[in-house]
Amino acid sequence: MGPVNDTKTALVTGANKGIGFAIAQGLGAAGFTVAAGARDDARREQAVDRLRAAGADAFGVALDVTSDDSVAAAAAAVEKAAGRLDVLVNNAGISGRTGDGIQDPTTLDLDVVRTVIETNVLGVVRVTNALLPLLRRADSPRIVNMSSNMGSLTLQTGPILAAYAPSKSMLNSLTAQYARRLADTNVIVNAACPGYVATDFTGFNAPRTPEQGAAIAIRLATLPDDGPRGGFFDDEGAVPW
Ligand code: NDP
Repeated sequence: MGPVNDTKTALVTGANKGIGFAIAQGLGAAGFTVAAGARDDARREQAVDRLRAAGADAFGVALDVTSDDSVAAAAAAVEKAAGRLDVLVNNAGISGRTGDGIQDPTTLDLDVVRTVIETNVLGVVRVTNALLPLLRRADSPRIVNMSSNMGSLTLQTGPILAAYAPSKSMLNSLTAQYARRLADTNVIVNAACPGYVATDFTGFNAPRTPEQGAAIAIRLATLPDDGPRGGFFDDEGAVPW
């Protein structure tokens, strides 16, 4: 076991850009030591530099959520640096290739489905389960899964994307499963929808800023001990499943 200190540590996956970077920056401003998870060395180092320039106590963690080895090494790195983990934000996500009927359900490219599920769903399970032992060492551990209202079976919003939208429905369902499994513990798990945010993901063609998209994740990451569990939230409150 590594050093244990009073500063809370938060690991954000996909922290090198977009909403993940804004979450890392916001948690850094809130006093967390931020472990910026990112798979590309250069992009991760740049992000850590930017976080530190903004005043955050940040360090980089090599992390590809699709790799067992990478995730195991990331958990070991967090343990060595901080000894425990207070907050995990599962933010890394992909839309998968689109166009040419690739995500039309009637002509769906199953390889794209597999790729999207591997990152958006299995990646979250892989990272969460590797980090849970460190989260259990914290007094008030929080897990936030970055979902999307496109995964809401009630709203059925956004364009038809038959790999991406179901991946977020499954992530929502998994969030509920984790919350039920951890109901008798101090680990609080919720899902968040950031709204429609201008990032690489949307071709920067969306009304909300990354900071606005990050706000709900930061709120769920810093919930009090009697805060909601196993829910799906955006800035306005509960999002229908
Ligand atoms: P971006 O495309 O800007 O950023 C995605 C991040 O995930 C990048 O840091 C990317 O790293 C990382 N990532 C992708 N695959 C992996 C992987 N295998 N291992 C580690 N990191 C990976 O997207 P956004 O910031 O817009 O999206 C963040 C989250 O918010 C996603 O889960 C998305 O589904 C969700 N969301 C976004 C919305 C929006 O309007 N933007 C709306 C609803 C939900 P790299 O740079 O190396 O590719």
